[in-house]
Amino acid sequence: MIKIAEDLHLLPSFPSFTINTYLMGNVLIDTATKWDAVRLIRQLKGHKPDMVALTHVHPDHQGAAKHLCEQLNLPLACHEADQEVMEGKKPMIPRSWIIRVQEKTWMGRPHPVSRPLREGDEVAGFRVIHAPGHTPGSVIFFREKDGIAVAGDVLSNLNPFTLRPGLHEMPDEYTVNRQQSRESIRLLASLDPALVVFGHGKPLTDRQALKRFAAGV
Ligand SMILES: [Zn+2]
Ligand SMILES: [Zn+2]
Repeated sequence: MIKIAEDLHLLPSFPSFTINTYLMGNVLIDTATKWDAVRLIRQLKGHKPDMVALTHVHPDHQGAAKHLCEQLNLPLACHEADQEVMEGKKPMIPRSWIIRVQEKTWMGRPHPVSRPLREGDEVAGFRVIHAPGHTPGSVIFFREKDGIAVAGDVLSNLNPFTLRPGLHEMPDEYTVNRQQSRESIRLLASLDPALVVFGHGKPLTDRQALKRFAAGV
């Protein structure tokens, strides 16, 4: 595990920063793909999380959730607007070619959400901020005291197709509602975070770069 900030660690993927999983306090944030379960359990050695929480429900975030929750006996949290997708009661969205491919290759099996998250809830000292658009239930976890934002796929610091670093809006194939997604990017920038960590890409500490990007979407 790599320490990113106080009580925030990255469980590195290979290649690094392509699909990020974090240990935020004692809460595991996102679970990569179903193929990453064994790696994540290995990387958690010596740490006992007390919950798995998802920034949103897509195959590269919920993949190993069921396996980890069952193996480590952990409750599962995600925003209530993504709950039915996590539980297999609704299809993963958007219904794009890439999500359909990832359903067959990366997606983990459905699992009950025992803690549906809502705006203003607290998770490991971070506040839940509803930031829909990428999916209806996308959230930012924000820690006021040091300005740390765990942004999931509200914004990417990596081009998801070419893997080139840099701030990017998620492409249409991954975006349920573009207008909402842009409002959520502006919401993230309005928090004026000192550090942003993403579902994809390296952490960002350049406040001006985030503001400039948000002003241009
Ligand atoms: Zn996503
Ligand atoms: Zn993602």
